[in-house]
Amino acid sequence: MPVSSAILELSRLQKDLLQLATPHEQLRFLVDSVSEVVDTDVCTLYLTDEEGNMNLMASHGLDQTGPVSIPASKGLVGLVAKNKHPINVARANAHPNFFYVEGTAEERFGSFCGVPLVRYGRIIGVLVVQRIEAVELSAEDEGFLVTLSSQLAHIVADIPNALRGDFVNQYHHGVKGSSGIGIGIGILCDHGDLFSVPDEPCDDIEEAVGQWHSLLARVISQLESEESSLSIQVSESVRGIFNTYASLLRDPALMTKVEEEIQRNNWLPGALRTTVKHFAEMFESMEDPYMRARAEDIHHLGNKLYAAHTGGSNVLMDISNIDRVILIGQEVSVSDIATVPSEKLAGIICFAGSGLSHTAVLANALGVPAVMGVDTLKHLRIREKFIVDGNSGLIVRYPNDMLSEEFQRLINEEEELKHKLSSLRDLPAITPDGHVVHLLTNSGLLADLSPGLRHGAQGIGLYRTEIPFMIRDSLPSEEEQLQVYQQVFDTYKYKPVYMRTLDIGGDKQLPYFPIRGEQNPAMGWRGIRFTLDNYQVMMTQLRAMLRAAGTESDLHILLPMVSSSEELNSSIELLQDAQEQLLNEGYPFKKPKLGVMIEVPAAISLLPFWSSRIDFISIGSNDLSQYLLALDRNNAQVANRYDQLHPAVLQEIQRIFQLARTYDLKVSLCGEMASDPMAVILLVGMGFDTLSMSATKLPKIKYLLRNLPWRIAESLLQQCLQVDNVQDIRTLLKRSMKHLKLTELLN
Ligand code: PEP
Ligand code: MG
Repeated sequence: MPVSSAILELSRLQKDLLQLATPHEQLRFLVDSVSEVVDTDVCTLYLTDEEGNMNLMASHGLDQTGPVSIPASKGLVGLVAKNKHPINVARANAHPNFFYVEGTAEERFGSFCGVPLVRYGRIIGVLVVQRIEAVELSAEDEGFLVTLSSQLAHIVADIPNALRGDFVNQYHHGVKGSSGIGIGIGILCDHGDLFSVPDEPCDDIEEAVGQWHSLLARVISQLESEESSLSIQVSESVRGIFNTYASLLRDPALMTKVEEEIQRNNWLPGALRTTVKHFAEMFESMEDPYMRARAEDIHHLGNKLYAAHTGGSNVLMDISNIDRVILIGQEVSVSDIATVPSEKLAGIICFAGSGLSHTAVLANALGVPAVMGVDTLKHLRIREKFIVDGNSGLIVRYPNDMLSEEFQRLINEEEELKHKLSSLRDLPAITPDGHVVHLLTNSGLLADLSPGLRHGAQGIGLYRTEIPFMIRDSLPSEEEQLQVYQQVFDTYKYKPVYMRTLDIGGDKQLPYFPIRGEQNPAMGWRGIRFTLDNYQVMMTQLRAMLRAAGTESDLHILLPMVSSSEELNSSIELLQDAQEQLLNEGYPFKKPKLGVMIEVPAAISLLPFWSSRIDFISIGSNDLSQYLLALDRNNAQVANRYDQLHPAVLQEIQRIFQLARTYDLKVSLCGEMASDPMAVILLVGMGFDTLSMSATKLPKIKYLLRNLPWRIAESLLQQCLQVDNVQDIRTLLKRSMKHLKLTELLN
């Protein structure tokens, strides 16, 4: 084949290869195409495993009834690897190194040409072509194969072995983030890896400067089009993130510094790395925490520029030929989620985080399956197929067709159930023997306001104000908060809205106000502790809430993490102060109801003292369980021990409920427990009549209540309170649900 057409073939092949969605398809396409281009009967790709064995990954022409592996250094394939040199012979079976691989029907073929795949000086595999005819491959075709292999080595390097039979259906376990099952193609949200780029001399300084200018222009316009196509109606704050990036990119200092570095004879990626590092360090050394946090934006932007330069994989890559997308990343950010059209988003996988981190909260709100803390996924480069099972916290990598079909069946069942439950939307949540439960929704994003109503929520039982704070790049002003809260009250007119004051700290950090150096962040500066120490933040927030609620809305102000009477008293003073100010300034408002979250165990014993000062309590079972059990809710390592049906948690919740009754306090529960049908049976058995949960869970809980006689819930509670371990409690409840024909609600 002439050199010019070989180059053309090569670039066509590479381009087409990257269009394919899965490594399976890519390998198949590769061996079929090579065999066609060099006109051979066989083309086979082997990749080396850790022991040096050559595993057959894909073949055009060889029979393959099961996994094929050639032991290290065996046969012609082994010799190619050992010699790091092509072997091109007319009669393979006459060669002293010939090694017959059983079951491949290889004996039919005469010629053999094998070329090594070398990456960074290491043999990672061998590409082999064979013909029935006993004639050597021409020198041109051999040259083409050698050139192709050097490119191929980089493309296939990250697929080793994983596609062999015994690696299909690789299971990875994480923590449940958001329930449901999704099947799709994984897209990495890492935005390139600029910081491992080395310095290299620049071949053509003028050209590199030109490339830099066009790269910058391209990324700015990419950012603008992403912003205009934001697919979920998140507030202006998400757009704020895009604006910050755009203004950093337009800063002339960035443009000039990269130019200077190139002039110093560093290639573009090296110049970019040095520049980004320089600016990030400059920001990191600043006093002001807001300015310090800009370093992260600079890093993020650097990686984004680098990914655009290399065409590297990231979420902003073209996903137009992918029907169902699974976002994968260390942490998948709100802006990553916002750039994928909701009908395409099939799931989220995070290497870090927990079932209660804010990515999980968002996934829940949007009804997207998510698994968190999957730290065993490695070498994700090329688009791969994944199953995300948010019901059990399981990930399947390289699922085979049988398994995919099985999971698809479960997805279809979920859909049917959803359809069936949608008819309950306007019916009350009432048990067959007349116990009424008010179902409210948890919220915190403008995007998830309407799903609550769509699923029949009777109000908002927990509005997490920290989420609008977290997706911006500075503290929102009173006017900005006013706008956000007003939309909440407009959507839930005359319905109760429990608005919680800012609860940051622990895993919920504000990017512009990082809290560093805490050994035990969950026990540190968080919730009410943080806001009382920064009472200007709390005052602004209280004023915005009161103004937004005006005289008609049903505002309940909820204080997070209260653990002492001093904290409650200071908050009450602050609220009174805010009301006086607004009165003097002439703003119309109504006296709000005030309540505390019961999530620190100390609060339970103090309830009798507080009862005359507050109107209601809401149990935060996520944190309450964390502190009662001394189990970090964000730690994937102990996630299997963390269960809100732990007998000690149940006993304490029962105690809280009874105290609330005695002291005539309204009580609700807004932790994840309220979404767990088994837990709901026990809560209703205790007598709870208000529960708050994510919108997507509401229909199932309503269905449960409409089919669960209260007297059965009550008797199950009495039985469970006699049990000393979670497993037996769950078994008992499962059995009863089966009896009540409610097993379809168990996922
Ligand atoms: C809780 O702790 O149960 C709760 C609802 O609050 P958050 O999950 O926001 O900490
Ligand atoms: Mg909490």
